[in-house]
Amino acid sequence: LYDFFHPVARRLRTCGRMVVIGTTPDLVKNPAVATAQQAIEGFTRSLAKEIGSGSTCQLIYVDKGAESAAESTLRFVLSARSAYVSGQVITVAKPEPKDPPETTDWTRPLDGKVALVTGASRGIGESIAETLARDGAHVIVLDVPAQGGALSEVANRLDGESLQLDVTADDAPTKLAEYLTDRHGGVDILIHNAGITRDKTLARMSDDQWDSVLGVNLTSQQRINDALFEGDVINAGGRIVCVSSMGGIAGNRGQTNYGASKAGIIGMVRAFAPVAKGTPATINAVAPGFIATDMTQKMPLVVKEAGRRMNSMNQAGTPKDVAETIAWMAQPGSGGVNGQVVRVCGQSLIGA
Ligand code: NAP
Repeated sequence: LYDFFHPVARRLRTCGRMVVIGTTPDLVKNPAVATAQQAIEGFTRSLAKEIGSGSTCQLIYVDKGAESAAESTLRFVLSARSAYVSGQVITVAKPEPKDPPETTDWTRPLDGKVALVTGASRGIGESIAETLARDGAHVIVLDVPAQGGALSEVANRLDGESLQLDVTADDAPTKLAEYLTDRHGGVDILIHNAGITRDKTLARMSDDQWDSVLGVNLTSQQRINDALFEGDVINAGGRIVCVSSMGGIAGNRGQTNYGASKAGIIGMVRAFAPVAKGTPATINAVAPGFIATDMTQKMPLVVKEAGRRMNSMNQAGTPKDVAETIAWMAQPGSGGVNGQVVRVCGQSLIGA
């Protein structure tokens, strides 16, 4: 590693890309090899912090036999689409079934797919819907009835459909299952993006502030996933992506509710991944850092400025950065990416 990267480290151009491909340490029997493979993680994360100039560095562990499944991931990390993703460790496993679907048209990888995006009337959700539509998917955008006007505009612009629904409603999972089955015979891509914050230190937090954040951000996702898996609504080769947060990895003052909900998502994704594999589908999460949206606009100025600057890119991310990461996970050729949590945080110094 040293011999390879040392001579070129200073010659990397602006917005360059460094990628190290390793072998998943947990699957290596020889202790010396496992040690060396694990060492690469510290190397890549450190290099990512020092290269600067908008450049990124990632480590991709490829399981034995999964080599042919790594293309979608390599294309993503080598492209401009991963601009705010750095210092990440991504594992590509052998996808299921034996002859997994592949991405055939890299310009419209989601052609013919039906995608549902929650919380899609604005912000990150709107950008996810736009990006999936650009990649060829027929997009159903969902949001609360109060956002109906903005939601219809998004749906019309993308030639998609809008669905007004509160994801926390008791009958939301059944309604959704019926809608997707009756109109489309199932769903290929499900993006759990709807989320809220109700910040207060724990001592001052009301029952309602706790319950509403856990309800929207976590429980609704669990209930919907359960209903869609049980009802066979997720098509074979389905892709579920859940929007977590750096707050669920590092924790934030005043966010015990939000931190719990977003860490819960990570647990859910890891627990569901083997189940999804049997479908066969995949379930992954993205953990955005500071992304410029209405949600972060509400933050106090000092917290906002700290969030914006305290990362290896020295700037805030955009909804597009999160959307591109999700679009990569949603591709047919990303079947080897399952149970992963990828941070879209410009390698935030908090919770690194
Ligand atoms: P946003 O601008 O507030 O958009 C979220 C959308 O979800 C809103 O339209 C919201 O409607 C909707 N929503 C809320 N509760 C809902 C419910 N019960 N049913 C259906 N839709 C509901 O937020 P954003 O910044 O784009 O964030 C999107 C996701 O990214 C969230 O999960 C958030 O936690 C996560 N995230 C964001 C950041 C960031 O820096 N922005 C960082 C990490 C993670 P209302 O108008 O009713 O709220």
